[in-house]
Amino acid sequence: MSYSVETMRDVFQHEDVFGVNCTIKTPEIAMAVHSYVIDGVLIDTGSKTLRHEFEPFFKEADFDQIVLTHFHEDHTGNAAILEKEYGAPIFIHQMSTHLTPNETRVPLYRKAVWGGVEPFSSKPLPRTFKSRNDDWTVIDTPGHTKDHVALLNESKGILFTGDLFITPKTKVVIVDENILDTLDSLKKILIFQFEDIYCQHAGRLKKPHQMIQMKIDYLEELEGKILNLRKEGKDVHTITAELFPKINPIVQASNTEWSPLHIVRAFLNRG
Ligand SMILES: [Zn+2]
Repeated sequence: MSYSVETMRDVFQHEDVFGVNCTIKTPEIAMAVHSYVIDGVLIDTGSKTLRHEFEPFFKEADFDQIVLTHFHEDHTGNAAILEKEYGAPIFIHQMSTHLTPNETRVPLYRKAVWGGVEPFSSKPLPRTFKSRNDDWTVIDTPGHTKDHVALLNESKGILFTGDLFITPKTKVVIVDENILDTLDSLKKILIFQFEDIYCQHAGRLKKPHQMIQMKIDYLEELEGKILNLRKEGKDVHTITAELFPKINPIVQASNTEWSPLHIVRAFLNRG
């Protein structure tokens, strides 16, 4: 698969958050990728294929530590280069620290889009931490991956949600995603106090509480539909075809590593 990078790069400052947004395009997908810096903390590093697009942002950004929301190549792809060039410590969920010093195996189609992940050293992310001036709480938000965290800057009321949100109406997930855990994690973050949400793909959310609630409602409604179709005696493939008639090109491109089937199967297994 070939990819091209959109030349449009958006570097922005919104109140205390300095960020970069680059879009990567293939025939199958177009996806925006963000990194953010606030109070000396760089959150996620973008993909290796976007290294040159992110570089001016890294140069301009003022950070002394790097925190990763989860171990996926579009979030960790520039960690090795940042470690080499800036020497900033890198933190990730403790269940993934053993993975980062090794060569990471990434399926070919993902490597084509995002590039690989060069080894880097990491430290376990504590439950709470302090940056230059701010207090942070790390919220375990498994679902998209087991090691996924959301990062709450308590001092400023800003929540960084990694890949927990992405879109309110999820139609495909990666095979490793447990959508039931995603749903629980979405409910969990609403217990915390925040005014702003920054998603690593969707950017800053307008009306963040409503958007999270919209995703919760969508998934619960979907679960209801799936269980009703099961009652009618339909199997997982028929239900998937009925509820997701439009086949997302990523399903074929990823050889079904991404598919709506994983969503339907998870709800059926619970039901
Ligand atoms: Zn991810």
